[in-house]
Amino acid sequence: MDGTMIDISREEEIRNPKDVRRHLVLLGAGASCAATPHGDAKGRRLPVMNNFVETVGVGSLLDKAGIDWAKRNFEDVYSELAASGGQHEVKEELERRVESYFSGLVLPSQPTVYDHLVLSLRKKDVIATFNWDPFLIQAYRRSRHVTDSLPMLLFLHGCVAHGFCAKDDVSGLRGARCSRCGGAFTPDRLLFPISQKDYSTAPSVASAWEKVRQGLEESLMFTIFGYGAPTSDRDAVALLQRAWGSASSRQLEQIEIIDIRSEEELANTWSGFIHTHHYDVFRSFHDSFIANHPRRSIEAFGNQYLDARFIEENPAPLNGTLDELHSWFTPLVQAERAAGL
Ligand SMILES: [Zn+2]
Repeated sequence: MDGTMIDISREEEIRNPKDVRRHLVLLGAGASCAATPHGDAKGRRLPVMNNFVETVGVGSLLDKAGIDWAKRNFEDVYSELAASGGQHEVKEELERRVESYFSGLVLPSQPTVYDHLVLSLRKKDVIATFNWDPFLIQAYRRSRHVTDSLPMLLFLHGCVAHGFCAKDDVSGLRGARCSRCGGAFTPDRLLFPISQKDYSTAPSVASAWEKVRQGLEESLMFTIFGYGAPTSDRDAVALLQRAWGSASSRQLEQIEIIDIRSEEELANTWSGFIHTHHYDVFRSFHDSFIANHPRRSIEAFGNQYLDARFIEENPAPLNGTLDELHSWFTPLVQAERAAGL
Protein backbone atom coordinates (compact mmCIF):
# COMPACT_ATOMS: atom_id res chain seq x y z
CA MET A 1 0.00 0.00 0.00
CA ASP A 2 1.16 3.55 -0.74
CA GLY A 3 2.33 5.12 2.52
CA THR A 4 0.35 8.28 1.89
CA MET A 5 -2.90 6.29 1.93
CA ILE A 6 -2.42 5.16 5.51
CA ASP A 7 -4.72 6.72 8.14
CA ILE A 8 -3.41 4.76 11.13
CA SER A 9 0.31 4.06 11.21
CA ARG A 10 1.79 1.19 13.16
CA GLU A 11 3.16 3.65 15.71
CA GLU A 12 -0.33 5.04 16.29
CA GLU A 13 -1.71 1.53 16.67
CA ILE A 14 0.95 0.71 19.29
CA ARG A 15 0.35 4.01 21.14
CA ASN A 16 -3.43 3.74 21.37
CA PRO A 17 -4.68 0.69 23.24
CA LYS A 18 -8.32 1.01 24.30
CA ASP A 19 -10.74 -0.64 26.66
CA VAL A 20 -12.31 -2.81 23.96
CA ARG A 21 -14.18 -6.09 23.65
CA ARG A 22 -12.70 -9.57 23.74
CA HIS A 23 -11.00 -11.55 21.03
CA LEU A 24 -11.60 -15.28 21.47
CA VAL A 25 -9.36 -17.89 19.84
CA LEU A 26 -10.28 -21.56 19.53
CA LEU A 27 -7.43 -24.03 18.99
CA GLY A 28 -7.51 -27.54 17.55
CA ALA A 29 -4.79 -30.09 16.83
CA GLY A 30 -3.68 -28.16 13.73
CA ALA A 31 -2.52 -25.28 15.94
CA SER A 32 -0.24 -27.47 18.08
CA CYS A 33 1.14 -29.01 14.86
CA ALA A 34 1.80 -25.50 13.50
CA ALA A 35 3.58 -24.62 16.76
CA THR A 36 5.85 -27.67 16.48
CA PRO A 37 6.25 -28.38 12.74
CA HIS A 38 9.47 -30.32 13.38
CA GLY A 39 8.28 -31.98 16.55
CA ASP A 40 8.94 -30.88 20.11
CA ALA A 41 12.31 -29.85 21.61
CA LYS A 42 13.56 -33.44 21.24
CA GLY A 43 11.90 -34.05 17.87
CA ARG A 44 8.99 -35.99 19.34
CA ARG A 45 5.87 -35.79 17.22
CA LEU A 46 2.46 -34.74 18.33
CA PRO A 47 0.14 -37.74 17.88
CA VAL A 48 -2.87 -37.16 15.65
CA MET A 49 -5.93 -39.38 15.52
CA ASN A 50 -4.84 -41.57 12.61
CA ASN A 51 -1.34 -42.35 13.96
CA PHE A 52 -2.11 -42.04 17.64
CA VAL A 53 -1.46 -45.65 18.73
CA GLU A 54 1.88 -45.89 16.88
CA THR A 55 3.14 -42.45 17.99
CA VAL A 56 2.30 -42.96 21.66
CA GLY A 57 3.60 -46.55 21.43
CA VAL A 58 0.66 -48.44 22.90
CA GLY A 59 0.17 -50.95 20.05
CA SER A 60 1.61 -53.94 21.90
CA LEU A 61 -0.46 -53.15 25.00
CA LEU A 62 -3.63 -53.20 22.90
CA ASP A 63 -2.49 -56.35 21.06
CA LYS A 64 -2.03 -58.13 24.40
CA ALA A 65 -5.54 -57.13 25.39
CA GLY A 66 -6.85 -58.52 22.10
CA ILE A 67 -8.10 -55.13 20.89
CA ASP A 68 -8.01 -54.57 17.14
CA TRP A 69 -6.68 -51.03 16.69
CA ALA A 70 -5.22 -50.90 13.17
CA LYS A 71 -6.72 -48.11 11.03
CA ARG A 72 -9.21 -47.21 13.76
CA ASN A 73 -9.86 -43.93 15.51
CA PHE A 74 -8.20 -43.99 18.92
CA GLU A 75 -11.31 -42.69 20.67
CA ASP A 76 -13.28 -45.68 19.35
CA VAL A 77 -10.56 -48.08 20.52
CA TYR A 78 -10.56 -46.54 23.98
CA SER A 79 -14.36 -46.60 24.17
CA GLU A 80 -14.38 -50.31 23.30
CA LEU A 81 -11.84 -51.02 26.01
CA ALA A 82 -13.84 -49.00 28.56
CA ALA A 83 -17.08 -50.72 27.58
CA SER A 84 -15.60 -54.24 27.87
CA GLY A 85 -15.38 -53.73 31.64
CA GLY A 86 -13.10 -56.69 32.28
CA GLN A 87 -9.84 -55.04 31.19
CA HIS A 88 -9.51 -52.50 33.90
CA GLU A 89 -5.73 -52.81 34.26
CA VAL A 90 -5.13 -52.44 30.55
CA LYS A 91 -7.36 -49.37 30.47
CA GLU A 92 -5.48 -47.77 33.36
CA GLU A 93 -2.11 -48.59 31.83
CA LEU A 94 -3.27 -47.06 28.54
CA GLU A 95 -4.43 -43.88 30.28
CA ARG A 96 -1.14 -43.68 32.15
CA ARG A 97 0.94 -44.05 28.98
CA VAL A 98 -1.06 -41.50 26.99
CA GLU A 99 -0.71 -39.01 29.80
CA SER A 100 2.98 -39.73 30.18
CA TYR A 101 3.66 -39.23 26.46
CA PHE A 102 1.89 -35.86 26.36
CA SER A 103 3.39 -34.74 29.68
CA GLY A 104 6.89 -35.31 28.31
CA LEU A 105 6.45 -32.97 25.34
CA VAL A 106 8.48 -29.75 25.51
CA LEU A 107 8.16 -26.66 23.34
CA PRO A 108 11.30 -25.92 21.24
CA SER A 109 13.42 -23.08 22.64
CA GLN A 110 13.00 -20.84 19.56
CA PRO A 111 9.81 -18.75 19.45
CA THR A 112 6.86 -20.79 18.19
CA VAL A 113 3.43 -19.87 16.86
CA TYR A 114 2.14 -20.34 20.44
CA ASP A 115 4.61 -17.76 21.80
CA HIS A 116 3.43 -15.29 19.15
CA LEU A 117 -0.22 -16.09 19.87
CA VAL A 118 0.01 -15.75 23.66
CA LEU A 119 1.96 -12.47 23.43
CA SER A 120 -0.39 -11.06 20.78
CA LEU A 121 -3.46 -11.13 23.04
CA ARG A 122 -4.31 -9.33 26.30
CA LYS A 123 -5.90 -10.33 29.59
CA LYS A 124 -9.39 -9.47 28.33
CA ASP A 125 -8.91 -12.06 25.55
CA VAL A 126 -9.43 -15.81 25.68
CA ILE A 127 -7.68 -18.83 24.17
CA ALA A 128 -9.77 -22.01 24.39
CA THR A 129 -8.11 -25.21 23.25
CA PHE A 130 -9.15 -28.79 22.58
CA ASN A 131 -5.53 -29.96 22.86
CA TRP A 132 -4.10 -32.09 25.69
CA ASP A 133 -0.46 -31.16 25.07
CA PRO A 134 1.39 -28.77 27.43
CA PHE A 135 2.65 -26.41 24.67
CA LEU A 136 0.23 -23.54 25.24
CA ILE A 137 0.88 -23.49 29.00
CA GLN A 138 4.63 -23.65 28.38
CA ALA A 139 4.40 -20.69 25.99
CA TYR A 140 2.35 -18.76 28.54
CA ARG A 141 4.80 -19.45 31.37
CA ARG A 142 7.84 -18.30 29.45
CA SER A 143 6.27 -14.96 28.53
CA ARG A 144 4.44 -14.01 31.70
CA HIS A 145 7.39 -11.96 33.02
CA VAL A 146 6.89 -9.61 30.05
CA THR A 147 3.40 -8.58 31.18
CA ASP A 148 0.68 -9.78 33.51
CA SER A 149 -1.79 -8.94 30.75
CA LEU A 150 -1.87 -12.30 28.98
CA PRO A 151 -5.02 -14.05 27.74
CA MET A 152 -7.13 -16.44 29.79
CA LEU A 153 -6.47 -20.08 28.85
CA LEU A 154 -9.32 -22.61 28.79
CA PHE A 155 -8.91 -26.37 28.29
CA LEU A 156 -12.07 -27.74 26.75
CA HIS A 157 -10.92 -31.36 26.75
CA GLY A 158 -8.42 -31.13 29.63
CA CYS A 159 -4.65 -30.72 29.45
CA VAL A 160 -1.72 -32.67 30.90
CA ALA A 161 -0.13 -29.54 32.40
CA HIS A 162 -3.33 -28.15 33.94
CA GLY A 163 -4.83 -28.59 37.39
CA PHE A 164 -8.06 -27.34 38.90
CA CYS A 165 -9.66 -26.68 42.30
CA ALA A 166 -13.39 -27.30 41.87
CA LYS A 167 -14.27 -25.83 45.26
CA ASP A 168 -12.80 -22.40 44.37
CA ASP A 169 -13.03 -22.59 40.57
CA VAL A 170 -9.28 -21.83 40.41
CA SER A 171 -7.01 -23.11 37.63
CA GLY A 172 -3.27 -23.57 37.75
CA LEU A 173 -0.35 -25.76 36.98
CA ARG A 174 -0.73 -29.47 37.52
CA GLY A 175 1.08 -30.45 40.71
CA ALA A 176 0.75 -26.94 42.18
CA ARG A 177 -1.61 -25.78 44.92
CA CYS A 178 -4.75 -23.68 44.79
CA SER A 179 -4.04 -20.02 45.55
CA ARG A 180 -7.24 -19.75 47.59
CA CYS A 181 -7.50 -22.89 49.76
CA GLY A 182 -3.95 -24.27 49.51
CA GLY A 183 -5.24 -27.69 48.47
CA ALA A 184 -3.54 -29.67 45.70
CA PHE A 185 -5.03 -29.15 42.24
CA THR A 186 -6.86 -32.11 40.73
CA PRO A 187 -5.17 -33.13 37.45
CA ASP A 188 -7.43 -33.04 34.38
CA ARG A 189 -8.86 -36.30 33.18
CA LEU A 190 -8.08 -36.71 29.47
CA LEU A 191 -9.85 -39.78 28.19
CA PHE A 192 -13.59 -40.29 28.24
CA PRO A 193 -15.49 -43.03 26.44
CA ILE A 194 -17.37 -41.36 23.56
CA SER A 195 -20.71 -42.52 24.93
CA GLN A 196 -19.94 -40.59 28.14
CA LYS A 197 -18.64 -37.40 26.58
CA ASP A 198 -20.61 -35.40 29.04
CA TYR A 199 -18.73 -32.28 30.02
CA SER A 200 -20.68 -31.83 33.23
CA THR A 201 -19.03 -34.90 34.81
CA ALA A 202 -15.55 -33.31 34.92
CA PRO A 203 -15.57 -30.07 36.97
CA SER A 204 -12.48 -28.61 35.27
CA VAL A 205 -13.92 -29.13 31.81
CA ALA A 206 -17.40 -27.98 32.82
CA SER A 207 -15.91 -24.75 34.18
CA ALA A 208 -13.91 -24.18 30.98
CA TRP A 209 -17.05 -24.59 28.89
CA GLU A 210 -18.99 -22.14 31.01
CA LYS A 211 -16.20 -19.58 30.61
CA VAL A 212 -15.88 -20.09 26.87
CA ARG A 213 -19.63 -19.64 26.51
CA GLN A 214 -19.45 -16.31 28.32
CA GLY A 215 -16.30 -15.33 26.45
CA LEU A 216 -17.89 -15.95 23.06
CA GLU A 217 -20.94 -13.88 23.94
CA GLU A 218 -18.67 -10.96 24.80
CA SER A 219 -16.29 -11.27 21.85
CA LEU A 220 -16.08 -9.07 18.81
CA MET A 221 -13.69 -11.33 16.93
CA PHE A 222 -13.55 -15.10 16.89
CA THR A 223 -10.52 -16.92 15.48
CA ILE A 224 -10.65 -20.65 14.80
CA PHE A 225 -7.15 -22.04 14.43
CA GLY A 226 -6.49 -25.60 13.23
CA TYR A 227 -9.73 -27.06 14.50
CA GLY A 228 -11.48 -29.44 12.12
CA ALA A 229 -14.73 -29.86 14.12
CA PRO A 230 -14.75 -33.66 13.81
CA THR A 231 -18.13 -35.42 13.97
CA SER A 232 -17.19 -36.81 17.41
CA ASP A 233 -17.26 -33.17 18.60
CA ARG A 234 -20.76 -32.48 17.29
CA ASP A 235 -22.00 -31.55 20.76
CA ALA A 236 -19.03 -29.27 21.32
CA VAL A 237 -19.67 -27.35 18.11
CA ALA A 238 -23.38 -27.04 18.99
CA LEU A 239 -22.40 -25.52 22.36
CA LEU A 240 -20.13 -23.01 20.63
CA GLN A 241 -22.85 -22.18 18.14
CA ARG A 242 -25.35 -21.45 20.89
CA ALA A 243 -22.86 -19.16 22.64
CA TRP A 244 -21.91 -17.28 19.47
CA GLY A 245 -25.59 -16.89 18.53
CA SER A 246 -27.03 -17.07 15.05
CA ALA A 247 -25.01 -15.59 12.20
CA SER A 248 -27.75 -12.99 11.53
CA SER A 249 -27.56 -11.68 15.10
CA ARG A 250 -23.82 -11.15 14.70
CA GLN A 251 -23.72 -8.67 11.87
CA LEU A 252 -20.73 -6.58 12.86
CA GLU A 253 -18.46 -9.28 14.15
CA GLN A 254 -15.66 -10.93 12.30
CA ILE A 255 -14.56 -14.56 12.19
CA GLU A 256 -11.12 -15.58 11.05
CA ILE A 257 -10.19 -19.14 10.25
CA ILE A 258 -6.58 -20.29 10.20
CA ASP A 259 -6.48 -23.66 8.52
CA ILE A 260 -4.83 -25.56 5.69
CA ARG A 261 -8.10 -27.03 4.37
CA SER A 262 -9.85 -25.56 1.32
CA GLU A 263 -11.91 -22.40 1.78
CA GLU A 264 -15.02 -24.18 0.52
CA GLU A 265 -14.69 -26.97 3.08
CA LEU A 266 -14.10 -24.44 5.86
CA ALA A 267 -17.03 -22.25 4.88
CA ASN A 268 -19.19 -25.39 4.99
CA THR A 269 -17.92 -26.50 8.39
CA TRP A 270 -18.46 -23.07 9.96
CA SER A 271 -21.48 -21.87 7.96
CA GLY A 272 -23.58 -21.54 11.13
CA PHE A 273 -21.12 -18.97 12.49
CA ILE A 274 -20.47 -16.85 9.44
CA HIS A 275 -22.56 -13.84 8.51
CA THR A 276 -22.36 -13.15 4.76
CA HIS A 277 -18.81 -12.01 3.96
CA HIS A 278 -17.66 -11.35 7.51
CA TYR A 279 -14.93 -13.94 7.54
CA ASP A 280 -11.35 -14.40 6.42
CA VAL A 281 -9.39 -17.56 5.82
CA PHE A 282 -5.63 -17.72 6.30
CA ARG A 283 -3.31 -20.66 5.67
CA SER A 284 -0.85 -19.51 8.31
CA PHE A 285 -1.18 -17.84 11.72
CA HIS A 286 1.35 -15.23 10.59
CA ASP A 287 -1.09 -13.95 7.93
CA SER A 288 -3.93 -13.57 10.42
CA PHE A 289 -5.38 -10.35 11.84
CA ILE A 290 -4.02 -11.18 15.31
CA ALA A 291 -0.50 -11.62 13.96
CA ASN A 292 -0.67 -8.38 11.97
CA HIS A 293 -2.17 -6.34 14.81
CA PRO A 294 -0.69 -7.96 17.95
CA ARG A 295 -2.33 -6.85 21.24
CA ARG A 296 -4.47 -4.38 19.22
CA SER A 297 -6.66 -6.71 17.15
CA ILE A 298 -9.98 -5.26 18.33
CA GLU A 299 -8.77 -1.64 18.05
CA ALA A 300 -7.57 -2.43 14.51
CA PHE A 301 -10.89 -4.10 13.76
CA GLY A 302 -12.70 -0.91 14.74
CA ASN A 303 -10.39 1.28 12.66
CA GLN A 304 -10.61 -0.91 9.57
CA TYR A 305 -14.13 -2.32 9.54
CA LEU A 306 -16.22 0.19 11.48
CA ASP A 307 -14.44 3.45 10.62
CA ALA A 308 -13.24 2.30 7.15
CA ARG A 309 -9.75 3.66 7.66
CA PHE A 310 -6.56 2.40 6.05
CA ILE A 311 -4.40 0.83 8.71
CA GLU A 312 -0.78 -0.20 8.61
CA GLU A 313 0.21 -3.68 9.74
CA ASN A 314 2.50 -4.31 12.67
CA PRO A 315 3.66 -7.93 12.53
CA ALA A 316 6.18 -9.21 15.08
CA PRO A 317 9.48 -10.41 13.59
CA LEU A 318 9.55 -14.13 12.82
CA ASN A 319 13.26 -14.76 13.11
CA GLY A 320 15.16 -14.23 16.31
CA THR A 321 15.28 -15.47 19.86
CA LEU A 322 12.53 -15.48 22.43
CA ASP A 323 14.30 -12.62 24.27
CA GLU A 324 14.25 -10.56 21.09
CA LEU A 325 10.57 -11.29 20.62
CA HIS A 326 9.87 -10.20 24.21
CA SER A 327 11.78 -6.95 23.63
CA TRP A 328 9.79 -6.30 20.47
CA PHE A 329 6.57 -6.47 22.52
CA THR A 330 7.80 -4.01 25.18
CA PRO A 331 6.44 -0.76 23.58
CA LEU A 332 3.00 -2.37 23.22
CA VAL A 333 2.96 -3.45 26.86
CA GLN A 334 4.24 -0.03 28.03
CA ALA A 335 1.49 1.80 26.15
CA GLU A 336 -1.09 -0.42 27.85
CA ARG A 337 0.36 0.33 31.27
CA ALA A 338 0.36 4.06 30.50
CA ALA A 339 -3.31 3.80 29.50
CA GLY A 340 -4.14 1.97 32.74
CA LEU A 341 -5.27 -1.17 30.94
ZN1 LIG B 1 -9.04 -24.14 46.25
